[in-house]
Amino acid sequence: MKQSPLLESVIEAFRCLPGVGQKSAQRMVYHLLERDRDGGKHLANVLARAMEGIQHCKNCRNFCEDELCTICCSHKRDHSLICIVESPADILAIENSGGFKGTYFVLMGHLSPLDGVGPEELGLDVLEKRIQEGTVEEIIVATSATIEGEATAHYLHDLVQPFNVKLTRIAQGIPMGGELEYLDANTLARSLTERRTLNF
Ligand SMILES: [Zn+2]
Repeated sequence: MKQSPLLESVIEAFRCLPGVGQKSAQRMVYHLLERDRDGGKHLANVLARAMEGIQHCKNCRNFCEDELCTICCSHKRDHSLICIVESPADILAIENSGGFKGTYFVLMGHLSPLDGVGPEELGLDVLEKRIQEGTVEEIIVATSATIEGEATAHYLHDLVQPFNVKLTRIAQGIPMGGELEYLDANTLARSLTERRTLNF
């Protein structure tokens, strides 16, 4: 059976979402058409506005609507401290943890030569310029504990080396409430190699 071309094209459009195949796209579109046309109109409207209005902060590459994001503009933040993360979602997670008062730099990914993601795609020239300004004292590398995240951390190490900037990596290991016997071997090995002096 041939479907309406408009229906087909909207289903096709939904497939641009990650993890959404033909079946899920169909389900979502049918749901909106059958049960939630107002929701569908709202989605289309907000999505169009967001795609036009949201850009990257010139300083940290986080999503924002102005040239600079609210964190980069804030006088309450410690601008000598930069935490490097892979995605804006990581910023949200760290902000929700409530303990960090520095600023950020978002890579929007990690080094992945096979996928064509090199230093330029990660905006490392922007980061280098920020370091060259001379106000940065410490950089915390908070990339994920994956092979790509580690490779990115190594690259950042080489990039920062010529400057008089302290470079640290977030601690990785045992989660709060985690019992040793349930940890995977890599996490446990890492928590041992990256042990720190006990200070109470
Ligand atoms: Zn910013």
